[in-house]
Amino acid sequence: MNANTESRTPAVAVLGSVNMDLVAYVDEVPGGGETVTGTDFRQVPGGKGANQAVAAARAGARVAFLGAVGDDLFGAELRADLREKDIDVTGLRTVPGVSGVAHIVVDGRGGNRIIVVPGANGEVTGVPEEHRSLLEGVDALLLQLELPMEAVTAGARLGREKGVPVYLTPAPARELPDELLAHVDVLVPNQHEAAAITGYDEPRAALAALLERVPEVLLTLGEDGSLYGRRGEEPVAVPARRVTAVDTTAAGDTFCGSFAVARAEGRSPREAMEFAAAAAAISVGRRGAGASMASRDEVEALLR
Ligand code: ADP
Repeated sequence: MNANTESRTPAVAVLGSVNMDLVAYVDEVPGGGETVTGTDFRQVPGGKGANQAVAAARAGARVAFLGAVGDDLFGAELRADLREKDIDVTGLRTVPGVSGVAHIVVDGRGGNRIIVVPGANGEVTGVPEEHRSLLEGVDALLLQLELPMEAVTAGARLGREKGVPVYLTPAPARELPDELLAHVDVLVPNQHEAAAITGYDEPRAALAALLERVPEVLLTLGEDGSLYGRRGEEPVAVPARRVTAVDTTAAGDTFCGSFAVARAEGRSPREAMEFAAAAAAISVGRRGAGASMASRDEVEALLR
């Protein structure tokens, strides 16, 4: 980085989901009508939007979060948690009803079953007039698919209107309307999402197919690293860092949030992928989603 790029704190806006993750640990998942005794329980803030916001904040950006929580206890806790992580929650509305909740059951072999109840996330339809200024002058807008498609599309359109680079993580995987992709600059799928969208399992084939629809693609490949492509250029591949995986929850969200911040600072795609791989590796080596994300200092130390 040169002195010029280092002098300013990057700013990121996230329009996305925020959930309370309720995680029960059991030896064996119960069948229908059966009750089992669990071995442990944790309540942790999550949601792909919130996770990306935390990742970007840890990476050193000024972050504004736009979305909704319910007027229940979880809503108050989720808001307080984001605020505690130095995220601007002016754009986080409180709506009547329940907050988004993810019921997660982890079995003795580490497998999981998840039920996401969108709650307040499902009430987000776009960016209200009074919150549009939060997108003014930011370096990146991060979107995922845990809000209604209408909201994601409106966000992407607004980002494009304001000249902000728009990142979309297409998860959970679903059909991507052209109307949405027309306003996306960087698509950030994992290998499963890329395969679901394109029909190609092979990363380079999927990358090429995606580049026909958006100008830039950052494909994450789990422990096989990541692959970046820009239309008309040779793809860039960066390996993952070797780490003993303890919990890969939110690896992709950590990667995306960190990459966007590094790019906003003027780093090249390869440098940003290396930065993101270090941040994701630290997070994968620890338990928990947002709570496990590395600080910028930890990432820089790993890169030295
Ligand atoms: P998602 O969490 O969306 O499924 P990936 O599994 O592709 O995303 O992971 C995103 C990034 O996190 C990878 O590109 C890699 O850098 C890092 N990562 C994920 N799993 C591991 C792992 N087991 N060891 C090291 N790095 C990992």
